[in-house]
Amino acid sequence: MSIFADNLKRLQEVQAISGIKDEEMKVLLEPVQNKYVELEIEGEKYPAWRILYNRALGPGKGGIRFHPEVSEDEVKSLAFWMTLKNSLADIPYGGAKGGVKFNPKGLSEQKLEAISRAYAHAFAPYLGQDKDIPAPDVYTNGKIMSWMLDEFEQVVGHHEPGMITGKPVELGGIKMRGDATAQGGYIVIKEMVSKFLAGKKNLSFAVQGFGNAGSFIAEKLAADGFVMVAASDSSGGVYQADGLDVSKLAQFKQAAGSLSSYEEGTKISNAELLETEVDILILAALENQITELNADKIKAKYIVELANGPVDFAADKILASKGTLIVPDILANSGGVITSYFEWAQNRTGQILDEEYLRVLLDKKMKANWTAVYEKYLAAENKITLRQAAYWLAINRILIAEKYRGRIS
Ligand code: GLU
Repeated sequence: MSIFADNLKRLQEVQAISGIKDEEMKVLLEPVQNKYVELEIEGEKYPAWRILYNRALGPGKGGIRFHPEVSEDEVKSLAFWMTLKNSLADIPYGGAKGGVKFNPKGLSEQKLEAISRAYAHAFAPYLGQDKDIPAPDVYTNGKIMSWMLDEFEQVVGHHEPGMITGKPVELGGIKMRGDATAQGGYIVIKEMVSKFLAGKKNLSFAVQGFGNAGSFIAEKLAADGFVMVAASDSSGGVYQADGLDVSKLAQFKQAAGSLSSYEEGTKISNAELLETEVDILILAALENQITELNADKIKAKYIVELANGPVDFAADKILASKGTLIVPDILANSGGVITSYFEWAQNRTGQILDEEYLRVLLDKKMKANWTAVYEKYLAAENKITLRQAAYWLAINRILIAEKYRGRIS
């Protein structure tokens, strides 16, 4: 099943509840620019994409993913989600995404650099601070952003740090980028607990995807009295009913590279992790983790999507009928791109803002976004999900911009 086709069902559903006309919706049914290149390095070929989905609200914005499962269908879906995420966050961007299909794990640093540079070189005509601005995503990081920035600047012949975000501080990056997605997710979870769980304490949680975002959010929650009973990464998971030591597990993961040889707790599979008896399930891995095949077996009453697209359309329906609340990806994981926006704005003005101040701004923005979605949800008297409320707000803002641009009437 195509992920993108699944997305379109969500659009159709929001169209039905919001009364958006076919004529208006058509601007959101296909990307405005879809570029594909086969990168060639030492005789090996690497399929690579950069897809700009919509630019009504500003230049394209969204990460680049290095993963063996990358496909056009996936990149298009991720670009679509970025479009909605940026609109919902009310930052001046359209949406885009990129990807290269290969497995970066265990690859030499030279090879990784060659692939990163080849990507920036090939897509340079379509990138730039006013065209389309990449950032890290799954298995890409600050080092990769540095190579890409350097390559791009060699092609265009001038400095342009605002063409990419998630850079090291020395190249114009921003200190808080490392834990920004987790920080945003944490703020949203606190809002959710205050509105739906009357501020209840010591809630249990499980994390699928104990990587960058997943381990940071676990540490923030644990420091606040939440209890992590299970965590997993691509190698499998660990479970401990009375709570795992989050810092110890994070240090272990950092040193060993995976959770597979962690000695405390009970070993569980990724599938078992999803079905753990827990208050909050945090999905921080890849898309399509909960589908009609396992949605019935999910016991958590609250799901927070720190990854993009971890719950598919059919699973949404099953979970909604069971009364499970889902905080959707385009709201829950937007802390990353909001912080990218701060970085980009600094690069453009040359003014460096204090980290403490930026954290206050992120906090305000996440709360405002949560409140907008929550109020829309309340106004519909529980007849729509938080995801539908978020989509509705995001789509609306894009369509207003398209109207001002005269693309729709
Ligand atoms: N890859 C992140 C996301 O999916 C961040 C994108 C960005 O900062 O542009 O939201």
